[in-house]
Amino acid sequence: MYIVPESAIADLVSRKDSFDAVEQVFASMSKRSAYNFPVIRESIGHADALYGFKSGFDRDALNLGLKSGGYWPGNEVKGLTNHQSTVFLFDADTGKCRAVVGGNLLTALRTAAASSVSIAHLAPKDARVIGMIGAGHQSAFQLRAALEQRDFEKVIGWNYHPEMLSRLEEVAQEAGLPFEKVELDQLGAEADVIISITSSFDPILMDAHVSGGTHIACMGTDTKGKQEVGATLIARATVFTDELAQSVSIGECQHAIAAGLINQGQISELGAVINGTHPGRTSDDEVTLFDGTGVGLQDLAVADAVVKRAVEQGIAIEVEF
Ligand code: NAD
Repeated sequence: MYIVPESAIADLVSRKDSFDAVEQVFASMSKRSAYNFPVIRESIGHADALYGFKSGFDRDALNLGLKSGGYWPGNEVKGLTNHQSTVFLFDADTGKCRAVVGGNLLTALRTAAASSVSIAHLAPKDARVIGMIGAGHQSAFQLRAALEQRDFEKVIGWNYHPEMLSRLEEVAQEAGLPFEKVELDQLGAEADVIISITSSFDPILMDAHVSGGTHIACMGTDTKGKQEVGATLIARATVFTDELAQSVSIGECQHAIAAGLINQGQISELGAVINGTHPGRTSDDEVTLFDGTGVGLQDLAVADAVVKRAVEQGIAIEVEF
């Protein structure tokens, strides 16, 4: 069995590796050769922690395993990150544990890869302005990955806590692009691609804000009750998701479904676009929306890529188990 510690991950996996792994697994999910098992997430009544696991099996890539972890709000004072996760991979032929991999950085990389894959397949080809809603930990990963998908010329951003926007400005500067702090109506009117990545429980981007051909990747809503965009914007958009069951229960579509504004049949899998069984965007002035809820198979896919690279480079720690 191999161990790949958290500290080794940054040097082992690139954004391209993450993109390829996530694109492949979305395609496998849509072909029904990969599936996620029901998610467990519980408050454990200790240390205010939320603990859970996401698991699945990809028969194409033979990735079987789980990501386990959660949120420990008291970690920061101990010098640890509040979100903690570890990926366990099992041999699909024998059930033996084949690898334990640090999952913290991988979570950010696989989440950024998901919105990136959606941009690659759904955004207007000539997208030039990217609009960011949210400026927390995930947002920098999201922006870096998204900037690789189109020839963007400008980054604009809005955040509930405006003082946090310097994080996005730094990423834009890294890429040699101008950054502008804007209000939501300007963001919706100017941006060709919008990523929302907040922990909001109320809609931020509304139908009236968005004009022209736009692709919106909603990445923050991964729990019942969270919401980033107005339900009528969802109803106007051509909607895609990583996994339908999560989209309607814990994803951004939960609210439009509950309000009866859309039905499940109007939500398509991004994997179908990747596989060529759904045309994706069909006109320049269409609003496409990706509801990225985050699935365990994404974690297994990037962890598998890391283990392969770590073994090749002699960095993986091998233990008898
Ligand atoms: P963070 O705590 O670092 O940042 C939170 C962000 O939300 C900041 O931009 C903050 O200003 C904003 N925010 C906080 N309260 C708000 C409010 N009341 N209204 C509007 N905005 C508010 O968090 P993060 O690590 O960047 O994660 C952001 C979100 O992404 C979380 O909801 C997290 O659960 C989700 N997430 C989703 C996936 C996925 O696969 N879809 C993966 C990881 C994280």
